[in-house]
Amino acid sequence: YNQISPKAIVSDACASYSTLDQLNKELRPSLSDITKNTDFFAYYRLNLFGKECPFWNDNNGMCGNIACAVNTLDNEEDIPPVWRAEELGKLEGPKAGHPGKRLQEERGPVKPLQGMLGQDVGESCVVEYDDECDERDYCVPEDEGSGSKGDYVSLVDNPERFTGYAGEGTKQVWDAIYRENCFSKSSFPKSASLGTLSTSQKGAAVNELQNVIREHGRQQVLEEVREHTPNAPFVTETGLEHEDQCLEKRVFYRVVSGMHTSISTHLCWEYLNQTTGEWGPNLQCYKERLHDFPDRISNLYFNYALVLRAVTKLGPYLKDYTFCSGDPQQDRDTKAKVQALSSKAGTVPQIFDESLMFVNGEGPSLKEDFRNRFRNVSRIMDCVGCDKCRLWGKLQTAGYGAALKVLFEFDNDSKDIPMLKRTELVALFNTLARISSSLEAINSFRIMVEEEQVEE
Ligand code: FAD
Repeated sequence: YNQISPKAIVSDACASYSTLDQLNKELRPSLSDITKNTDFFAYYRLNLFGKECPFWNDNNGMCGNIACAVNTLDNEEDIPPVWRAEELGKLEGPKAGHPGKRLQEERGPVKPLQGMLGQDVGESCVVEYDDECDERDYCVPEDEGSGSKGDYVSLVDNPERFTGYAGEGTKQVWDAIYRENCFSKSSFPKSASLGTLSTSQKGAAVNELQNVIREHGRQQVLEEVREHTPNAPFVTETGLEHEDQCLEKRVFYRVVSGMHTSISTHLCWEYLNQTTGEWGPNLQCYKERLHDFPDRISNLYFNYALVLRAVTKLGPYLKDYTFCSGDPQQDRDTKAKVQALSSKAGTVPQIFDESLMFVNGEGPSLKEDFRNRFRNVSRIMDCVGCDKCRLWGKLQTAGYGAALKVLFEFDNDSKDIPMLKRTELVALFNTLARISSSLEAINSFRIMVEEEQVEE
């Protein structure tokens, strides 16, 4: 970011950093209000404990259970119990029963997005068709493969922040997530360094690289390549394969990387100083993970443009939606707040143009692949070995999944609009709120870095 001027355009989105920052300033208060002060958006229903990691054995302490979070701190013994990863990663407060649940059950199901706000009585509440799964989903439904319907968890009581979850377990999860980005062999690396090789040499080099990546994970390979060729312009995190990548594959990578940036930002912004026991911003953490990686920050801005565009596009579809909390007055207030936000967002010029995707070249054939890969990312979240991290990891993948569904499956002219479940709506708005607070934190961190430089 320090290398990018505020006027620079966020590639793949039609907006500059400063435009998106300005937008964020305007929308942030109402977004915070919606996600913090309405029951509908402050609780999230998910299956946090009932699913096993489907990709590797989670009994080996790498992930998937609370004990794993404890093991990830190297010098656990030195840290007072209350600050240990297990404690920090635990959920706060009782798992809430949703206030409107009983009422919803009494009223029976109403199809989502067709919930009607009645006059005085007989108002309908939305009950999800939990077992229904749409092939146009970009995420695995939360209750897939389990008998339980999950628990409601208070998002306000469980902020996304530093938990101490780190080490081999996290590496394994992030590596698995980034591996989903390797779409197909034919699209694999074509970097500047390979440009000097003959076709057959190139093929052999690419094959070898693929094997190494399969064996060691993408991140490690990237790091090693960077170490050996520090000035090579093609080795950006946007991928070994970034240069010649088509829009769709780039977007996939950017969504994942931008989500990673947002998680890192929150853990650096609400960091626990283990010496003083105080929570607060950790500038060093920001510098190490983000400040010198403009790609990572650009991907966060990109995600803001993408998710905000989805929320704007969804606005008109929510006009007849009942935000059921069990209290009709609150339902009406929530609806008014959401309408105010989406109409405010609706006045901004289109900042992301989804109509460019899945149309040209190999685009159309990529859509299913894209969807399946994103579903896999959502499955990997069951391998996250810290409860709070898993909660936010699942919420944000569901949020991006909902955004992608709105962008790519909601055709304004079509009568056949896929369902958006209540959990998807909650995830979508909370994911936007997460990105929004990350943008704010990054701007504050930047000021802190500048102040530090002036002092020096
Ligand atoms: P990591 O963040 O683990 O990154 C691993 C590697 O990925 C880096 O070495 C780098 O090469 C690459 N990388 C880093 N950032 C990006 C990016 N933006 N784009 C592309 N590549 C990148 N910890 C908490 O304290 N609180 C949380 O709420 C939390 N939630 C998590 C949720 C999930 C889903 C996961 C997988 C982990 C979570 N963690 C959380 C752990 C946290 O993300 C880090 O993994 C941990 O702090 C260790 O950091 P690290 O320095 O080893 O680098």
